[in-house]
Amino acid sequence: MKLIFLGPPGAGKGTQAAGVSAHLRVPHISTGDMFRSAIRNATPVGLEAKKYLDAGELVPDSVVIDMVRERLSMADCQDGYLLDGFPRTVDQAVALDEISAPDAVVDIQVLDERLMDRLTGRRICEKCSGTFHISKLADEHICPVCGGAVYQRDDDQPETISVRLRAYHEQTEPLIGYYSGQDQKSRPGENRLKIVNGDLKPEDVFRAILATLE
Ligand code: AMP
Repeated sequence: MKLIFLGPPGAGKGTQAAGVSAHLRVPHISTGDMFRSAIRNATPVGLEAKKYLDAGELVPDSVVIDMVRERLSMADCQDGYLLDGFPRTVDQAVALDEISAPDAVVDIQVLDERLMDRLTGRRICEKCSGTFHISKLADEHICPVCGGAVYQRDDDQPETISVRLRAYHEQTEPLIGYYSGQDQKSRPGENRLKIVNGDLKPEDVFRAILATLE
């Protein structure tokens, strides 16, 4: 199955994608994680992408599309994939339909007023990559699952979050029209969009996603 998780930053895409990809046995591909890893390793893509991630803006389409095209050509993606954070513009979606068209697109919806608190409070374990809200941590520096150290993403600061939310509404939200078949660039007569309420407990969101995919 070829799947996409859409939704604003902080909707829970990463957490849900980890669970659903393990359940469906398809690779979880997060373009944000790919960029962060490229930045850590100072690759040419990382050097190009860093200024955009720091500012909370989208990396140019050509850079992201080339990176995803290369990743999807790998052997583990031939029977399916779960893309988290890609596409984020209609032009990326059109390119993906040419590379390897998704079967279903899950849009995880959460209201803006909930997202700022979710993102400013988000902490990530550097060992197991688990994501937690600071209010749920007994020790704000230690992962409750594996005991690893937890950190805050550089772009989870209020000013950068506002830029990311604006980018979402202006550039990514139109994908809802694209995948439901209502955009002029949509594939004719095709509705691949499944909407899920992301404002529930993570295990309930997980169940809702599996139910909508059945
Ligand atoms: P994420 O981890 O998905 O929140 O992504 C973190 C950052 O990586 C975003 O704010 C963008 O700067 C960049 N990024 C990730 N995916 C994309 C994409 N599909 N298109 C453009 N920029 C992206």
